[in-house]
Amino acid sequence: MEPIEVVVLSGKGGAGKTSVAASIAALLKDKVVSADCDVDAGNLHLLLHPVASKTIDFVSGAVAVVNQNSCTGCGKCIEHCAFDSITMSDDKKAFVHEVLCEGCRFCATVCPEKCITMETHHAGHLFVGSNGPMPVVWADLKGGEDNSGKLVAVVKKEARKEAQRTEREIVIIDGPPGIGCPVTSSLSGAGVVLMVMESTVSGYHDVLRIYDLLLHFKLPGILLINKSDLNNEITEQAKLWAAENGVPVVAEIPYSSLMRDAVMQGVPPVEMGGDIGEKFREVSEFIIEWIKTNR
Ligand code: SF4
Ligand code: SF4
Repeated sequence: MEPIEVVVLSGKGGAGKTSVAASIAALLKDKVVSADCDVDAGNLHLLLHPVASKTIDFVSGAVAVVNQNSCTGCGKCIEHCAFDSITMSDDKKAFVHEVLCEGCRFCATVCPEKCITMETHHAGHLFVGSNGPMPVVWADLKGGEDNSGKLVAVVKKEARKEAQRTEREIVIIDGPPGIGCPVTSSLSGAGVVLMVMESTVSGYHDVLRIYDLLLHFKLPGILLINKSDLNNEITEQAKLWAAENGVPVVAEIPYSSLMRDAVMQGVPPVEMGGDIGEKFREVSEFIIEWIKTNR
């Protein structure tokens, strides 16, 4: 059976998305594969502490490289690069800035000395590992890279492979922030989306924007209201909206300093126990039931 993907999204950062994803993963570690699709600033691994067993180079496109020994400093490449990716050093040698190069090859074509070659572009790394019995997949995109949507797709593919290898039916995905290309990529093949809303005006608007995306992709959504006592009026408004749109509200979690303490200690908040632990247990049970009923 194909694994079902539960994607955790929140729009902006700081709503508690990763804390929620890590807590559910920790509670269901005998049943799930965990994947971090926040490839630009992933921190799920900082809470789950997986041990990497495999590191894969993430290559994407090509990048121009100048042979400095043959470069005469004529400047033709700079003149023709539409992306302003090349600069001239003080000693008259052209230098390509890797993160700016779009790999169009034009410079290599115009260089009279034929001293520009196109080489594989290493944009980051993908890691496959485990936390105890639970497979974990995460990635690290180099700073300044703009192909995070593609890396998200690769992370999801590896997570599905791990689910099939270990015969697990659920993949918990810590999704990217925002609603752009990486989020769209994280939704491809998703089974259900857990929307984590911070109870603020902007948090509520973020959920509405995510829900528009879900409607577009015909995906079901579940709502978790985090820091629900920050703005009781917004919490009530979100619950009303959820009821009108048939979106189940899985939990309301009031603000707790334990959530912040957990992040500072590098553990999933569920491990702090108490009411927080109980809330996350309810969320995990709800997700398992939802999958049984709806898949
Ligand atoms: S490959 Fe294209 S973008 Fe890259 S340096 Fe050459 S001309 Fe510029
Ligand atoms: S076109 Fe070729 S020789 Fe001229 S500056 Fe660029 S790399 Fe150097």
